[in-house]
Amino acid sequence: MNTSPAFSSEQIHAAAQALHRLRPAYKELLQFYEKIFLVQEASKSRIDLKPVQITSELRAIKRREKLPLADVSDFSFDSQSARDLLLEICDIIQSHNREMGDAAGAIVRGLDQEIEPLVFFNSLLKGDDAYFDKTAAALKIDKNALAFVAYNSLKPSVALCAEQLLGYLKELPGWEKGYCPVCGNFPGLAVLDQDGRRRLHCSFCWTTWPVKRVFCPFCEKTGGKNFHTFYSEQEKDLRVDVCDDCKKYLKTVDTRATERIIYPPMEQIASLHLDINARQKGYDSGMELVLPEVSE
Ligand SMILES: [Zn+2]
Ligand SMILES: [Zn+2]
Repeated sequence: MNTSPAFSSEQIHAAAQALHRLRPAYKELLQFYEKIFLVQEASKSRIDLKPVQITSELRAIKRREKLPLADVSDFSFDSQSARDLLLEICDIIQSHNREMGDAAGAIVRGLDQEIEPLVFFNSLLKGDDAYFDKTAAALKIDKNALAFVAYNSLKPSVALCAEQLLGYLKELPGWEKGYCPVCGNFPGLAVLDQDGRRRLHCSFCWTTWPVKRVFCPFCEKTGGKNFHTFYSEQEKDLRVDVCDDCKKYLKTVDTRATERIIYPPMEQIASLHLDINARQKGYDSGMELVLPEVSE
């Protein structure tokens, strides 16, 4: 198990360029997200986190019961860094996205007023839907836009905190579960490495962990006639695994079929056509997509 390796700005740019060449329809979306990912990675160096302590007794119980190490609400974060990043992200949104631009402007104006950073970020981690309803209404903006900004501003803290928590799990044998060993969320993406080994990527904290090749992370079945894969001849590096037992799907990037740098958050964005396709076929992603309704 390990968190995603750190990526340099050159690598993120190269990943975006490569995907743009492959899938020109994603041009605007890739330009937008490249900027978001760059400011997120850059902000990691400014984050000061208080480590989350988990006692050995609690760890033993979690291990025995196959429970994730922490709950999302246990995660620590750097409120000041997240606040700084929020301003950068709102700036990017305003210059790239007409639809969400007004919401981003309202969020910036509401900062330290309707949006008290500590409460705001805590509410996201606690999944306090009522807070987001109330704050979005007070700012007269869409709740999804508010949640998008909150999650993306907090994401570097979340990833670093997950990395710290993962330190507790280092000596453990294989997790072999479909949910994240650190935070308990379901994967948003799977990646096959050069040897064909499969790793899942948490949709929330981006921790990765190895699993069997034929294994549904959502219902944990390991084979049978209800597993299918669909992919297109033009995109041999991408596929969707579906499970007819639980009607869930998971996108997979096969690194053996491509030379490009794989930056998982970018891969998730540049494969939204597969989400649409899977949903049209009646499958569900099994997680809440923390993605904006970006439209040009
Ligand atoms: Zn996680
Ligand atoms: Zn399943």
